[in-house]
Amino acid sequence: MATENVIIIGSGPSAYTAAIYASRANLSPLIIEGEADSAKRVDIPGGQLMITTDVENYPGFPEGVEGPHLMSLMLKQAQRFGTRIETGWVESVDFKKRPFTLRTSSKEYTARAVIIATGAGAKFLGIPSEKQLMNKGVSACATCDGALPLFRNKKLIVVGGGDTALEEANFLTRFASKVMVVHRRNELRCSKIMADKGRKNPKIEFLWNSVVEEILDVKAGKVTGVRLKNTLSQEQSVVEAAGVFIAIGHQPNTAFLKGHIALDEPGYIKVTKGTYTSVEGVFAGGDCVDHVYRQAVTAAGMGCMAAIDTERWLETQGH
Ligand code: NAP
Repeated sequence: MATENVIIIGSGPSAYTAAIYASRANLSPLIIEGEADSAKRVDIPGGQLMITTDVENYPGFPEGVEGPHLMSLMLKQAQRFGTRIETGWVESVDFKKRPFTLRTSSKEYTARAVIIATGAGAKFLGIPSEKQLMNKGVSACATCDGALPLFRNKKLIVVGGGDTALEEANFLTRFASKVMVVHRRNELRCSKIMADKGRKNPKIEFLWNSVVEEILDVKAGKVTGVRLKNTLSQEQSVVEAAGVFIAIGHQPNTAFLKGHIALDEPGYIKVTKGTYTSVEGVFAGGDCVDHVYRQAVTAAGMGCMAAIDTERWLETQGH
């Protein structure tokens, strides 16, 4: 099999922007994108924007743009300049010798340079009932699942106090009779505009200083409510609900890189000089690197940087 100039792992704004730049630089990049799996929330081709409704802060779209549409435009733009796409999870890498080797369950690839743009995935509470009732009323994606008959005109719970939680809660009020936001503190983390929107929505109620101890009812095989604990009084209570949406943040999709490149404690890829990782010839950008800004536009910017760094580095290697 021929060695690729550059393989881009991922399929969000960072990966597609890297592909646009790399293909325009005649590097004929190959993207390896994850397979569709909505249960994993973001590990789907197109990344987190595929499960977003209106994106109102991506420059160039004064009326806003739907996340999936934005991603399809980016992909088309990359393909127009010769980007090729293959589907599969990269399960292991060999970055010790060049060309680098990447393996999916079905195929092995070699590449002179690699750009990692694998993004980040939803975090879960880690309680057993959450797993047992996943897709039976527990979801990590209101945009994917909110309109299901299961949730229509029902009381729903959203866990979290960040922008995602408030965005999901607002979205779910389109279908639900009531949405209760369960937050472990009494102060929201989200932006002021989202907090105001939530507070003004008559269908949204906040349950402060509360954590979910258990999602009910595993025996019944469906969500009927949650057992909450008040973090101040330690008192427990049961709240009825037909659905629980977990929106407590994200973790980088970098497990397959452990031991192969430098990661920080939560697993984000460490970069220096822009997008250089600890392995020469391997570059990274987007949410798998960035736990601060985490926006589509910053991810796209980092994808551009990674492609330019790659192109210049390949040139120094005589390619
Ligand atoms: P986030 O800002 O990290 O917020 C996570 C929330 O979940 C926090 O309120 C946190 O509580 C809570 N939480 C974390 N772990 C928990 C646990 N184990 N149990 C209970 N609660 C837990 O994550 P995010 O909301 O996904 O947002 C991520 C980034 O994307 C942010 O930069 C955000 O601005 C951006 N974003 C922007 C938009 C938009 O502009 N429309 C939409 C979505 C996201 P504490 O507050 O106590 O830490």
